[in-house]
Amino acid sequence: MAEQRYSGRPASPGLVIGPLHVLATRSAATRARAGDAAAEHARLDGALGRARDDLAALMATAGTEGEEILAFQVELLDDPALVEHARAAIDAGEPAAAAWSAALDEQIEGYVAADDEYFRARAADLDDLKTRVVDLLEGRWPDELPTVEGTILAGRDLSPSGFIAAERARLGGIALAEGSAQSHVAMLARARGLPMVVDLGAVPTGADEAILDAEHGMLVTAPDPTTRDAFAVRRRARAQTEERAVALLGSPATLPNGERVACLLNVDDPQSIEPALLDAADGVGLWRTEFLFLHRAQLPDEGEQYAAYTALLDRLTGRPVAIRTLDVGGDKPLAGVSLPSESNPFLGLRGLRLCLDRPELFRPQVRALLRAAPGRSLKVMLPMVSRASELAEARAFFDACLEELRGEGVEAAMPPLGMMVETPASAVAIDTFDADFFSIGSNDLVQYTMAASRDAGGRVAALADPLDPAVLRLIERVVAHGRATGLEVSLCGDMAAVPGCAERLLALGLRRLSVGPAALARLKLAVHDHAG
Ligand code: PEP
Ligand code: MG
Repeated sequence: MAEQRYSGRPASPGLVIGPLHVLATRSAATRARAGDAAAEHARLDGALGRARDDLAALMATAGTEGEEILAFQVELLDDPALVEHARAAIDAGEPAAAAWSAALDEQIEGYVAADDEYFRARAADLDDLKTRVVDLLEGRWPDELPTVEGTILAGRDLSPSGFIAAERARLGGIALAEGSAQSHVAMLARARGLPMVVDLGAVPTGADEAILDAEHGMLVTAPDPTTRDAFAVRRRARAQTEERAVALLGSPATLPNGERVACLLNVDDPQSIEPALLDAADGVGLWRTEFLFLHRAQLPDEGEQYAAYTALLDRLTGRPVAIRTLDVGGDKPLAGVSLPSESNPFLGLRGLRLCLDRPELFRPQVRALLRAAPGRSLKVMLPMVSRASELAEARAFFDACLEELRGEGVEAAMPPLGMMVETPASAVAIDTFDADFFSIGSNDLVQYTMAASRDAGGRVAALADPLDPAVLRLIERVVAHGRATGLEVSLCGDMAAVPGCAERLLALGLRRLSVGPAALARLKLAVHDHAG
């Protein structure tokens, strides 16, 4: 068997060699003839009940994030609108499996059409649930799963519940012909430290063993001796690097010349972060509050937001926490908020633009933040700012809410109000903004500067290069402005999590970097090893 290479995109870093287990490609659903409607309703009820039980059993072993994903699926099972659709189709003569499939397909279509990869990835949850119930109705067995520890699981795509079930075998890695780096499975893999590559283009066949290189996004099946040797060398080097990084985690990060670099965390759901990492960070450089708003029937009110914000601030006692106001819109639907349909949502009504347009959405968050500020190290950061007037309008909104709260006799204070620098306009005209601090959002800054979508693959992905001179010049400009004015400048895009890029950012003079939890130790190592 000759060595074969498949090239894709890394979704969770790591380097592993192991036995290869290829998931069977699913055959199309057989179309059973419908019994009478009452019998089909009863079959559907039976399958939904069994699916609920099976998901509950999986949840018991799933870990926090996995449990949340499965809980979302259980919620969907209980969604009367979804089930009613299927029931109507049964009444119209459809068999239960076809009726359920059609009801889910309608929902899936909406998610697949979304412009944002995050939302497209949610389609996988619905598809997962569809398949589970259809399989139960049609008496199909789930995929045969690997039993050998360290196995690389390969397939076309993998459902979140499939991942959780497979993970019992303590997988070595995941290699998918399709898939997305933003999917729930990718998120779970990153949380578990399990190497994963997506978008390989084809499902590997005919090999028993493979090397998964989730640093470069590559799967090598039946590796030949030269490839094995090279792999062994890289693996040893990686293990040593990892060891050095972990050893530095608990200490403040300093450059070889003794200069201190603040290493902060990017946070979505604070509950999902290991306490040791929260302790090791110099604070939170970006809290994406969207996590409080998405996937729910009712938006969080002021009280719920206040409780969430103060809980994290109090957990970090005195260390700065930069909370970013809601950054959704266009392609990210919110319960109870009708958004315009836009042909190019990334350039549409999103981030601060949406919040200023919908004061009823913004006010509870602003009030909760103002109430959380007294006596706490809160900073507030505004996303997607393009012009100075937007920032001024936001400031006036904060002022008005503060006056309102004081009028009500509620304790509140104005925190430092900063902005993300993630549009080229804001970087170019940085001196026009009356912000208390700046945080460079390299993910959006790169996509808007290079006109290359942040979730694209192939040729476009190559253009979305954070080290392109155009991007670096914009960053340089913002750093220079910070130096000239004494205003704080940090960077919180994914760029800081890539060791080679962190090097460049340090060389450009940045001394505050914020990264996802999994990258904190490597960032501290990059600071420690910085050449000059
Ligand atoms: C960014 O754009 O770099 C950023 C940090 O924000 P988000 O990734 O949430 O858009
Ligand atoms: Mg952004």
